[in-house]
Amino acid sequence: MNLDVHTLFMVTIYVEALLGLLLLFAWVQNTAITAVVWWGFAHLFRAASIVLFGTYGSAPDLISIDLANALLFTAYAVGWTGARVFDGRPAEPVYLVTGAVLWLLVCRLPILANAIQIRVLIASGIITAYIWLTAYEFWRGRGEKLVSRWPAIFLLFTHGALFLVRTPLIAVLPLPSSGRMFGSVWLTVLSFEALLFTISIAFILLAMAKERTELRHRTAAMIDPLTGIANRRSFLQDANALANRYVADPRPTAVLAIDLDHFKSINDRFGHAAGDRVLEIFADAARQIVRSSDLIGRLGGEEFAAVLYDVSPEKAVAVAERIRTAFADSTADIDGNPVAATLSIGIAHCAGSMLDLQNLLARADQALYFAKKNGRDRVEIAASADLVLGPTDDVPLQPGLTASEAAAKSTV
Ligand code: GH3
Ligand code: MG
Ligand code: MG
Repeated sequence: MNLDVHTLFMVTIYVEALLGLLLLFAWVQNTAITAVVWWGFAHLFRAASIVLFGTYGSAPDLISIDLANALLFTAYAVGWTGARVFDGRPAEPVYLVTGAVLWLLVCRLPILANAIQIRVLIASGIITAYIWLTAYEFWRGRGEKLVSRWPAIFLLFTHGALFLVRTPLIAVLPLPSSGRMFGSVWLTVLSFEALLFTISIAFILLAMAKERTELRHRTAAMIDPLTGIANRRSFLQDANALANRYVADPRPTAVLAIDLDHFKSINDRFGHAAGDRVLEIFADAARQIVRSSDLIGRLGGEEFAAVLYDVSPEKAVAVAERIRTAFADSTADIDGNPVAATLSIGIAHCAGSMLDLQNLLARADQALYFAKKNGRDRVEIAASADLVLGPTDDVPLQPGLTASEAAAKSTV
């Protein structure tokens, strides 16, 4: 294959500029992800720097080498800043110009005026540093589950490593005399790699921005914004998925119906904001007590539900009691207010071969009804798990058992 480096230069300029404009266009369509603007400008800056490189031989070295490189470093710095902004870090003007300033200072050193290889080494080092910093930035943000993060990190790491390989390459293939710069084989190879990189990275960065937008929409549709736990729809969806799993691997399961006591009065006495805070405190306390494999969700208002998989009735009661006491303790005093909120919990347990979720929820609700009726701030468990066989609407009202009664009945 014989690639003409002049053609490659021209193609790269057009491709870089086009990708830059496309990224900016993508941002105009969805302005939520500002990093896309930075990435767009990174491509445009790179296009401009290649234009300057292209003037090599016809323009002074100050423009075609020194300024061209300074612009190229700034382009990579802009790309890195985009990665910082993407993960919520500030754009640091100092970082943006560090590479370029360092380079221009180095160029002024008389000792390096003719030491082309050392200058190439420094230039490669600056670029690799920026590229690896970009990769590191994406790595740092890996807590956010974006699949496209990984190809981005891989691509940046490899591209950075290739820039470093320039150093040993210089030893093997010395730079041709200045007039024949474009005749160099490795320049062709590096230019071709840079072209492929720039196309791939623009594509992946755009994919990352798109993936994040979709993830945010999905999260907004599934998570209750106040408490950060599953909303009703998401909770029921997860519970149904758990019921399907139950068919293959039936384990004793409990459903908890939870309702805060006299919540309206908390709002009335301490204000709506304090009420919101109580809801948050509940969610935090409950989340810490249930296992990560259990489900918890806000069904609406001050009503919550949990599904505990693989638990005995006694264990379910113990978990409910822990939630009740933890909640009472942490609301005893909220910002100096003696809120002392309490809650009631109804439990339905299932140890049979079928998990009828609707039925379990209805029975947990019945038990909750008795908890309220029996004075609130208590846990009740629905009597004998598999008694109710009729349709959900016909669930007979049965007195529940208090936690202590359930424990007393237990033979385990
Ligand atoms: P009970 O002990 O019988 O459950 O009485 P309660 O006052 O808790 O129940 P009720 O259903 O009468 O009142 C629920 C209140 O919850 C009414 C509503 O204003 C309040 N509420 C619902 N959602 C929110 C919310 O997101 N934030 C706040 N602060 N209050 C809410
Ligand atoms: Mg209530
Ligand atoms: Mg209620």
